[in-house]
Amino acid sequence: MEKKQLETLSILIPVYNEVDNIFPLFESLMKALKKTERPYEVIFIDDGSTDRTLDALIDLNCKNPNVKVISFTRNFGQTAALSAGIDSCKGDIIIPMDGDLQNDPENILLLLQKIEEGYDVVSGWRKDRKDPFLTRRLPSIIANKIISFIGGVYLHDYGCTLKAYRKDILKNIRLYGEMHRFIPIYAKWVGARVTEIPVHHFLRKSGSSKYGMSRVFKVVLDLMVVKFLMSYSQKPIYVFGGIGLLMVIGAFLSGGYAIYLKLLKDISFILTPLPLLSVLLLMLGFLSILMGFLAEIMTRTYYESQGKPTYHIKETIP
Ligand code: UDP
Ligand code: MG
Repeated sequence: MEKKQLETLSILIPVYNEVDNIFPLFESLMKALKKTERPYEVIFIDDGSTDRTLDALIDLNCKNPNVKVISFTRNFGQTAALSAGIDSCKGDIIIPMDGDLQNDPENILLLLQKIEEGYDVVSGWRKDRKDPFLTRRLPSIIANKIISFIGGVYLHDYGCTLKAYRKDILKNIRLYGEMHRFIPIYAKWVGARVTEIPVHHFLRKSGSSKYGMSRVFKVVLDLMVVKFLMSYSQKPIYVFGGIGLLMVIGAFLSGGYAIYLKLLKDISFILTPLPLLSVLLLMLGFLSILMGFLAEIMTRTYYESQGKPTYHIKETIP
């Protein structure tokens, strides 16, 4: 009786050339899932692996009815893989994790405890992270501070894949680029309760990391997009119009100062860059305001053509 009411878990594991990790990972995952005593499904997303990863996954799928495999035609990236998993999973609680044995499946129990306490998002924090300091941990520490500050959700480790989400929170989220790490920000934005807990982290034993330093730049750019969408996607004119108005004001100030210099100090217009600055700012200012109008038209199309509400209802009481 009790068991039936327990919500189903969906474990999502994107894998890209992780052939040697699949079986050991699955074994320890099974042990942990048994302990939760909940119904579960495990969805592996093969992100266009070129080794024998897919064969290993098909093998698992044949032996275990709870294993589902999604196979991409080519490498689309970890975010796309997670999106595919989210779109096709059936569970009430979604738990993504890495397929390289760097996360500890046992920690799923800890995440679940927090979900049971009523949180909608529980973020793993690799407190004792086993990656190189200069190329990984240091950029990550800085990035997490910046992301927390800009996103307004204070987490130590956005990059940790091992997290737990209530399914309803992810319903309307679409992910692009490297954005899966920003889900807690989106979630908070629609009113979710977000928390974090320390989780284990292990050295990568086989296979190699799929990322280099270029990820840092992608994450920074994605963060800017997320921040923009979060704060202004419904009112882009506030950003473009705001910048435009500032420029127009700047244009009048510098123009005014140029006239003051000309009339009272007898300094010719051509002796200062002020008239040029004034014209430039005026033009850019108007252009920016016009871009704001265009963006407004686009947001209307975005929300209205898809029937997307501009709010999120928790429940309606009759
Ligand atoms: N991954 C993926 N597609 C990619 C890159 C990575 O599915 O294009 C998977 C990878 O197989 C692993 C997880 O994402 O399961 C995390 O990748 P990785 O271990 O390379 O990242 P790191 O731990 O070095 O940050
Ligand atoms: Mg890894």
